[in-house]
Amino acid sequence: MYPRDHNRRFNSFTDHLRSYFGERIQKVAVDAGFTCPNRDGTLGTGGCTYCDNDAFNPSYCRPEKSIAQQLSEGIAFHASRYRRASHYLAYFQPFSNTYASIGKLEQVYSEALSFPGIVGIVAGTRPDCVDDDKLALLREIAKRHYVMVEYGIESCYNETLQRINRGHTFEQTVETIRRTAALGIPAGGHLIFGLPGETREQMLGEAAILSQLPLQMIKFHQLQIFRNTAMVRDYEQYPAGFHLFDLEEYIDFVIDFTERLSPAIMIERFASEAPPRFLVAPDWGKIRYDEVLRRIERRMEERESFQGKDFE
Ligand code: SF4
Repeated sequence: MYPRDHNRRFNSFTDHLRSYFGERIQKVAVDAGFTCPNRDGTLGTGGCTYCDNDAFNPSYCRPEKSIAQQLSEGIAFHASRYRRASHYLAYFQPFSNTYASIGKLEQVYSEALSFPGIVGIVAGTRPDCVDDDKLALLREIAKRHYVMVEYGIESCYNETLQRINRGHTFEQTVETIRRTAALGIPAGGHLIFGLPGETREQMLGEAAILSQLPLQMIKFHQLQIFRNTAMVRDYEQYPAGFHLFDLEEYIDFVIDFTERLSPAIMIERFASEAPPRFLVAPDWGKIRYDEVLRRIERRMEERESFQGKDFE
């Protein structure tokens, strides 16, 4: 069976956006100045051990600028570097983008949605940073605009979540994703492969676990160790405690995972990319994500692989 009504070997979120809007849609990152409970002292101050938001934040995206200014610069940035789009999603990316009062959330989401060309929002957040009122706000917005809430799942195993100091459990993640989806708000998730202590089999086992959840979209990242993190100290003291994927191994791993994943869940990304100046390991050279994706798709062809091939 080679599934679906498109010619990709996986259920592509990018393709979904293109067919939903009838054109190419670009995500533009916004930093609205939020923090997160794992940094402001509510749960802790050190944050997740791998976390360095600066490594992912594009240069135009700074909280001292207004949202309109960030969107304007972000749109110009993308137009000069990539294929031009005429409509965009405001991507509230760094830290926890539902971690504020309802009034503040309303204000920042509205400011983004009133910017010319913005057709929706994507809010990256933690599973313990939404409540009924925030979900009600997102549901209201979703009646008129595209909305996706992107939850940091990172791992399905509490032992790992504890070890990386996430400050929430997988049960909280499950409950929040179910609650979000039950309100008709699209829920997405983010997963990291290669976290310390996890075996290959455990990681592959997450495909079946996540396939049971009402997730519309998922993003995968290989573990990257950044300079300015707690994790780098563990890594430097005991590198043998980490299994960091090299590129070729990762390509086959992530295809194995995709084969076990429900074909109903759209995949937005297979891997992450960060400026080399932040990165300690692994070293994948100067390869860009587009090329990683091309290699994954080529390898899927060679293996006659497709998403859901081994999904039960
Ligand atoms: S990864 Fe997210 S939740 Fe964890 S410390 Fe960083 S911003 Fe906070």
